[in-house]
Amino acid sequence: MEKSPRNTKQRRTLAQVFAGADQPLSVEEAWVRVRRLQPRVALGTMYRNVRGLLEQGELAVVHFPGQAARYELEGKAHHHHFECRSCNQAFDLSGCTDKVRFKVPRSFKVHGHEIIVYGLCAKCAAKR
Ligand SMILES: [Zn+2]
Ligand SMILES: [Zn+2]
Repeated sequence: MEKSPRNTKQRRTLAQVFAGADQPLSVEEAWVRVRRLQPRVALGTMYRNVRGLLEQGELAVVHFPGQAARYELEGKAHHHHFECRSCNQAFDLSGCTDKVRFKVPRSFKVHGHEIIVYGLCAKCAAKR
C-alpha cells in the first residue's frame, strides 16, 4: 500500500517523539507531544502510526499492570521503569540492580526479568 506524503511525515514525527522521550509513552501521551509539532494529527491516525512503527520493529511495547500499553524505541539498552502512582506516568531508570539474587531453580531457563519501581514522581511528590 502506498503511503501519502502526509502519513509518512506524521509517522516520522511520531518516531522523533519516541526518540526524544526518556519515558515510555501511551498512544495518548505521545499524541500530546506530536500535536505540539503537528496540531492536526487525529488520535485514530496515532493508533495507526504506532501500529505501523511496531510492525516495522521501531517500537517495543511496555506493559504496566492495569494500564494501557506504552511504547518506547526498540533496542534501548537494558533499563527499568519508575511508575508514578499519582499521575500514572512511567519514567526510564538507567542501570539495573546487581544486589538481588533470584532463587531460580537450576533446571529453569531465565530469559530476562522485569522490575517496576513505583512511588511518586518529583512533580507529584512536591504536591504532598
Ligand atoms: Zn507523578
Ligand atoms: Zn535489569
